[in-house]
This record gives sequence, C-alpha cells and structure tokens, in this order.
Amino acid sequence: MKKVKEYLNTKVLTKLVVALAVLLTLVALFLMITKTAPVLNGNDKGGDTCKSVVLVTSGDTLSGILSKQGLSHNQISEIVSVLKSGAGITGLRADRDKIEFVRDSDESPVNKIVVIPSPWRQVELTCDKAGAWKCNTVEIERDTRAVYKSGVILDGDSFYLAGQRAGIPAGILSDVYDLLAFEMDFERDVRAGQKFSVLYEENFSSGAKVDNGHVLAVSFDALRGNVKMYRFKKNDGSYGYYDEKGNGAIKSLKRTPINNAKVTSSFSTRRKHPVLGFTRAHKGVDFRASTGTPIPAAGAGRVVKRGYNSGHGNFIRIRHNGSFETLYAHMSKFMKGVNVGTTVRQGQTIGFVGSTGLSTGPHLHYEVIKDGKHVNPLTVKLPAINNLDDANKAKFLEYRKALDDGIEYLSQHPQLFIVL
Ligand SMILES: [Zn+2]
Repeated sequence: MKKVKEYLNTKVLTKLVVALAVLLTLVALFLMITKTAPVLNGNDKGGDTCKSVVLVTSGDTLSGILSKQGLSHNQISEIVSVLKSGAGITGLRADRDKIEFVRDSDESPVNKIVVIPSPWRQVELTCDKAGAWKCNTVEIERDTRAVYKSGVILDGDSFYLAGQRAGIPAGILSDVYDLLAFEMDFERDVRAGQKFSVLYEENFSSGAKVDNGHVLAVSFDALRGNVKMYRFKKNDGSYGYYDEKGNGAIKSLKRTPINNAKVTSSFSTRRKHPVLGFTRAHKGVDFRASTGTPIPAAGAGRVVKRGYNSGHGNFIRIRHNGSFETLYAHMSKFMKGVNVGTTVRQGQTIGFVGSTGLSTGPHLHYEVIKDGKHVNPLTVKLPAINNLDDANKAKFLEYRKALDDGIEYLSQHPQLFIVL
C-alpha cells in the first residue's frame, strides 16, 4: 500500500513539475501568439489559395450559405447529402458553427469547404476532378489542464456571488451548483465563512485556451459537514461523480429542480394557506421564480399526468424509477412535446413557471411522493444512481488519494495547474 502511495505522489509531483514548465513555455508562446493573431473572419490570401470564413447567424440555412458562394443547385444538394451521411450534420447552429470556403484564386470555384461544428471537430469537404464531393472528419487535438479555484462565502453572499468572486467561470459554476444541489440545500446550508473549491478542466489548442471542460472535483464546507465530489472514469470507460467514499454523488432526484431559486414556503403537515386562509398541510416546497423560467425534471422518468386542476393549475406528474414520483404545479405553460407517456431525462425542461391555480404569485410548487406518500423534498433520503462495484471502488479510492494530493499542492500554488 505504501508503494502505491509513493508511486501516486511521485506521479502527481512529476505532473506538477511538467505543469510549471508548460506554464513558462506558455508565457513565451502567448507573447508570440498576440503578435501573430490568426484572422478568423474575412479573406486570407495566404499562399496561392483564397480562404473565407462565414459565421452562421440566425436565419441562415446551409443551402443559402452555399448558394451565396456560387455553388450550383446540384452541388448544393450533393454537399448537403454528403454532410448528412458522412458527418451526421443535418443543420446549422446560429452563432456557433463556422464554415470555411477555399478557392484556388478569387475567381475560381470553391474546391474545399470546412464545416466547423465545434472547436474540436472539423468536417472537410473536398471536390475531386470529376466534381464529386467527399467528406473527412478531423478531430482537433487538445491539451487539457486541471486548474484550481477556491473562495469563501461572505456575509449576505449567495454561493453564486462568492463563486464569481473566486473567478470560477459561469458555466463551471453552474455545473458545480448542479452537483452540490444533490447534497446541499443552498437555502439553509450556506453561511458566511464557509470555504469551497473546484478543480476543473481548461482545454487548449496550439497553446491558446479554447474552452472549459468538466468539473473534476468540488469541495464545500457545508453546515452538516464537508461535501466532496470527484469525477471518475470507470473501467467500462464511462464517467460519474462520486463522494469521498466512492458512493454515487448523482441522486435519482434533485431536491431543488430550479437552480438558485429561493424557498418561499417549506414542506409542512400544517400551515395557514395564503389563499384559502385556513390551516392545511403544504405537501410540497415552493420556489420563487419568475414567470417563464424553465422547469427541469428532477429526475429521469415518465410523465404520468399532465393537466389542470383548480389547486395546482397546470401541473405535471412524473413517475421515476423505484418508488418515487414528482409533481410540478402552477405552470404558465407546458413544454412542447412533453405529454402523458413522454420519457424525460433528468434536467430536461418539462414546462415553465407561472401562477395558475391557487397561487399568490409566480412560483414552482414541487412535490415528491414516495410509495404514494408525500415527503419533504429537501430532507428525504434519495437513492444514488451509478454506484461503483468493488473493482471500480478500489480504483476510485487510489485515484481520489492522488487527486487530493494534487489539489492540496494547488491550494498552496493556485497559479499552477495539472497537465492531464
Ligand atoms: Zn406550494
């Protein structure tokens, strides 16, 4: 066991030394890159070829863009069909996809088209002498590094504000929130003085940062103890999040379906009803949110009811695996395509916040029903999904130890990173 530990420690330290070297190289590279920034838009007449890049905007269609480049109707239909069969591309996404057109000269016809659906994938279409288009997908190599950010909750802070102050990018912060929401009640578990940290991926291509990747580890000193979660690759190649002991961190249901929504009324067996005026049980939890806020399904399952009644207004009820059901009330409208019998994923939008039925203002009324009985969504014990078998668990515990050592080192040297 000691050997394993030494091995892992050496491995992490080696990586950190490498990281420092890479950092220095990067500073040098960066200076070079800023001087020779690549032109992404407009014409680039480097060498003999002529290149132009089109950024897809709202309302653009593939055939429309191709037509503007002087391609014939026949060529366009061939390109559209090759893209579909060769790369699975059937449509364009505004403000995300880019298309590059290459010609031999300004006046020549297009002989190469590069569709760029993500920073990590390029689909190259080339036209042979006979005029037939062929398609080839190129995966762009990426360098990934793990970076560390930490922060502390101040008086009057929300976790979101504190996370932004700590320099955690918005997308990562929202992923962290999603993860912690399985274990924490942000309404009651967050206090000034609590510390948190996150280790996440930054992806680079040719020395330039392109985007952020996954959350690798997260830690939060919650009121009822430190919550830690780690992303881990199992022997079958799939990934999951696990707590320190290797228990599945993703639960079958979310306690608070809408991120960052304030609890305005808790679960209770007796409360004075705000509209009816007399005392009756409140079988769910109310979350304040503005009209139109998307309501995600708390867990994977099947819609068993979708309708209207005078109390709940527009509501949806979902049956999940095992013994749980969830109910979402007072919706302004349902999501298109979500009907009785529809199978939904965890996090999939099923409808939108409103104030229909017996309601004093826009909010989500959320109920969890276990074995036919209403339970408190914020405290009910929820089953984990994706638990580890013994072999994976042993591997996880080794990995976690190594990662913890790396995190400990980075917490002392936050300017460094781990090369993955
Ligand atoms: Zn309610």
